[in-house]
Amino acid sequence: MYFDELDLNDNILDGLDAMNFEKCTPIQEKAIPIILEGHDILASAQTGTGKTAAYILPLLELLSRGKKDSSKVNALILMPTRELAQQVDQLLEGFAYYENTSWIAIYGGNDGIAFAQQQKALQTGGDIAIATPGRLLSHIRIGGVDLSGIEYLILDEADRMLDIGFYDDIIEIIKHLPKKHQTLMFSATFPKEVERLAKQILINPVEIKLAVSKPADGIHQGVYLLHETQKKELIKELFKTQNRKSIIFSSSKEKVFHIYCALKNMGLNVAQMHSGLEQKQRTQVMLDFKNNKLQALVATNIVSRGIDIDDVAMVINYDVPKQSEDYVHRIGRTARAGAEGLGITFVTLKDRILFDRIETFLGKTIERLPLPDDIANMAPPILDEKAKPKEKKKFYKKRKTRNRKKRNKPTTEQNL
Ligand code: AMP
Repeated sequence: MYFDELDLNDNILDGLDAMNFEKCTPIQEKAIPIILEGHDILASAQTGTGKTAAYILPLLELLSRGKKDSSKVNALILMPTRELAQQVDQLLEGFAYYENTSWIAIYGGNDGIAFAQQQKALQTGGDIAIATPGRLLSHIRIGGVDLSGIEYLILDEADRMLDIGFYDDIIEIIKHLPKKHQTLMFSATFPKEVERLAKQILINPVEIKLAVSKPADGIHQGVYLLHETQKKELIKELFKTQNRKSIIFSSSKEKVFHIYCALKNMGLNVAQMHSGLEQKQRTQVMLDFKNNKLQALVATNIVSRGIDIDDVAMVINYDVPKQSEDYVHRIGRTARAGAEGLGITFVTLKDRILFDRIETFLGKTIERLPLPDDIANMAPPILDEKAKPKEKKKFYKKRKTRNRKKRNKPTTEQNL
C-alpha cells in the first residue's frame, strides 16, 4: 500500500516524500487506518518494522484535524530509553517538517537548564511530549505539569519499559491524564505483565499481531563455549584479526567498562555506552559510532533495540541475553537493510540454560566455533550438552525469586 492511499494530509505526504518513504510497511498498513478511526490498539511490532512511523503519522494527522487545546500538551509518547526518545525526536523533524506541530523530548541526564526548559514546555504546551517515564514523573512530582489536555497516549516498547520496572510509574502518569484518551500500545513481546497493563489501560483495543521476526538471513551466527576467564582473551583475539564495525554487548556497566579498557589498551578506537555516562557523552558516542569515528562500541542492553545504525558488521554477545527476544534484537543491529553480518555469542556453563532457550526460540542450533588453541589451552573444554530438567527447574526457580525482588525495587530515572 502507498502512503497516499491513506487518509493523511498533504503536508504529511510531502514530509514522507522528502524522506523517500513511498510504501507502507505491514505494521503501518495495518495500524494507521485503525488509529485514524480512533481505536485503542495493542500492536506487536519489533524495532526495524517501521513501528515509529506507524504511530507518528496518524498522530500528526489526528492533531492536524484540530479540536486540540493549543495551550496544553495533546499527545504523550512514553518510551524506555533516552536514546529512543532522541531517535523519535529526530524522526519527527522529518515527518512533521511541513506540519505546524511542536514537540518536546523529556528525558533524564541533561543539565539543570534542560530540566527547566522541559518543565516550561510541559506547562506552556507543545503538541507532543516524547518522554521516558522516570523523567516525566520527576516533572509531575515537582508540580505545575498539566497533562489534562492529553488526547493520545502512546506506549512504545511497552515490554522493555515493564522489564526495566516502569509499571507503577506508567500507572501513576496515566492517573494525571484525562479519563478519555486514545491509547496505542506497541510491544515486541507479550509477557504476562504486558497483558496485565494492556487489560488495565486499553479500552476495547484492536489487536494487531505480526509474526515475531527471527534474525535476518544475512546474519551468520556462531557460539563459543568457554569459561568466564577466557572471554576477555577471546575478545582481544577476535579484534586482532578483524577491523569491522562492531558492537559488544555485556550485561553490566562494570563488565562494559572492563571490556572497553581491554580493547582500548590494544589501541582500538572504541567507546563504552551505558547508563553511568552523562547524557552529553551518550549522545556524542552514538553520533561518533554512526559517523564511523569509532570501530567498536561496548554497550549494555541500552542499544539493543531501536537504534538505527546501518553498517554494523559484527555483534558480540559477551554475555547471553536474558530474554530470547533480546538476542534477536542485539544481533539484529548487524546485517541491516539486507547486508551481511556476524552475530557471535559467548556461552559459559552458567549461561547454557539461557542459550538452550534461545535456540529453542529460534528453532535451530547455532554453529559451535572452535576456540583458538592458546585460549582453549587455558582451561578444560566445556561439554556441549543440553541442561538436565532438574538443573533447569533450579535455574528458573532462582530466576523467579530474583525477578520478584527486582520488581519490588523502586525505579529511578537513572535506571537507563
Ligand atoms: P523503526 O521500526 O520505527 O525503528 O524503523 C526502522 C527504520 O525503517 C527507520 O530507519 C525508518 O526510518 C525506516 N522506515 C520506516 N518506515 C519506512 C517506510 N515505509 N519506507 C522506508 N523506510 C521506512
